[in-house]
Amino acid sequence: MISDLVIIGAGICGLWTAKFALDAGLSVTLIDKGACGSGGSHGVLGALAPHLPDSSNEKKRFHWRALDELPLLIEQLEEESGLITGYGRTGRLMPVRVEGFAKRMQRCVDGAPEHWQIGKWSYGFEMIDVGPYAHWINPELAPMGLVHDEMSARVAPRLLTKALKAALSGRVKIIEGFEFGHFDEAAGRVVSRDGRQEIRSKNIVLAAGYETYSLLEPFTGLQLGEGTKGHSALFGLEGVADLPALYDNGVYVVPHSDGTVAVGSSSQKEWCDPHEIEEDQCVSFMERAVELCPSLNKAPVLAKWAGIRPRCFAKDPMVGQLGEGRNVYVLTGGFKISFGIAHRLARALVEQISGAQNASALPESYKVAYHLAEASRNG
Ligand SMILES: Cc1cc2nc3c(=O)[nH]c(=O)nc-3n(C[C@H](O)[C@H](O)[C@H](O)COP(=O)(O)OP(=O)(O)OC[C@H]3O[C@@H](n4cnc5c(N)ncnc54)[C@H](O)[C@@H]3O)c2cc1C
Repeated sequence: MISDLVIIGAGICGLWTAKFALDAGLSVTLIDKGACGSGGSHGVLGALAPHLPDSSNEKKRFHWRALDELPLLIEQLEEESGLITGYGRTGRLMPVRVEGFAKRMQRCVDGAPEHWQIGKWSYGFEMIDVGPYAHWINPELAPMGLVHDEMSARVAPRLLTKALKAALSGRVKIIEGFEFGHFDEAAGRVVSRDGRQEIRSKNIVLAAGYETYSLLEPFTGLQLGEGTKGHSALFGLEGVADLPALYDNGVYVVPHSDGTVAVGSSSQKEWCDPHEIEEDQCVSFMERAVELCPSLNKAPVLAKWAGIRPRCFAKDPMVGQLGEGRNVYVLTGGFKISFGIAHRLARALVEQISGAQNASALPESYKVAYHLAEASRNG
C-alpha cells in the first residue's frame, strides 16, 4: 500500500502533523529512529510564553493565535486519548528592576487591550506590586514591582507527546526504530538508512528536529540550520501547581500539575553528546532559578535533562513544500517556542499538502522559500 504521507520524526512537530493529516483524511505513516517523543520534545520545562504585546506583526499574531487556540485542541486531545497533558493557562510573572524595562512593560500594558484581544478573549497584561506573590518570587529582585500576563501557559511535554501518540495509535501507522535514509521521489520509496526497510509514499514530511538540516542537504545542497543543546531540571515542590511561571533574563521557573517545578535552560552551540548531562552547564541557571524562586531552596532536585533544539539560521521555523511540484515537505526549527506553535505550523502544512483552504496562513519568514533565499544570500 502507498501512503499519502510519511512523516519522518515523531517529536511535537511530527506528532501534530500526523494528527492534522489524519483528521484531513490522509493515510499517514509516522516513523522515528527512536521512540515517539524521545528527541528534543522529551524535555521537562514546557513553558508556553507569548511574544510581548508592545507591538504587533504577522509573526507575533501567528504565535498569539496559536496560544489562544491550544486549550481547545488540548481538551479535544485529552478526550480522544483519555490522557492528561498537564496543560494550564497559569500566566507568568517577571520582576521589574530597571527603568528601561519598566518603560517597555508599560508599552505592553498599553498595547495588550488591542493586540491581545483575540476572538472573544482579552488577555490581561499588567504591572502589579510584589505583595500577593512575595511568597513565590524573590521581592529583592523586583524593586519596581512585577509584570503579570495572562496568556502564558504551561504543558508537560512528555504527557503531551504521549497523548498525541495515543490519539494516533491504530489510525496512523507508527514505526519506531526506523531511521530514514533517503527518499526516491520519482518512485515514492522511503528507504531506511541501513537499506533494509522500505515504505511507499506519495509525499514525505521532514520533521526530524535538528537532524532535519542534514536530511535536507541532499535535496538543497544547503545547510539551513543547526542544533543547539540545552539543559533543564526538575524540582519536587507540592502546592504550587496553580501559581504563575516566573521568568527573568533567560531563566524560567515553571510549576507543573504533578508536584514538580521545572527550571531552565542553558544554551550551547558547541556540543558532542546530545543526551549527556553536563553539570557545569546546569549550575548557572539552577542557581539563578533558586534566587528567583527561594521556595526551591529546600526542594529536592528530581532530574536533569539535556536535549537539542532545532534552530534555523534564518531564525524562524521552516514550514512547507521544498519547491513547486516537489513531494518533499519540511516542518522544523521552533527553537524555544515549538510547544506553543507546533499545532498551528502542522495544520498550515497539512492544508498545503491536502490543497485545503489555507486557514492558518504562515508568516513569510516561516516559508521554505524564505529560508532558501536567505541561505543562498548569506552563502
Ligand atoms: C533544554 C530545553 C528546553 C526547552 N524548553 C522549551 C519550552 O519551555 N517551551 C517550548 O515550547 N520549547 C522548548 N524547547 C524547545 C522544544 O523542546 C523543541 O523546539 C522541540 O521539541 C522540537 O520538536 P521537533 O518535533 O521539531 O523535534 P524533536 O522533538 O527533536 O523530534 C524529532 C524526532 O525526529 C527523530 N529523527 C531524527 N532523525 C531521524 C531519522 N533520520 N529518521 C527517523 N527519525 C529521525 C528523532 O528521533 C526525534 O524523535 C526546549 C528545548 C530544550 C533543549
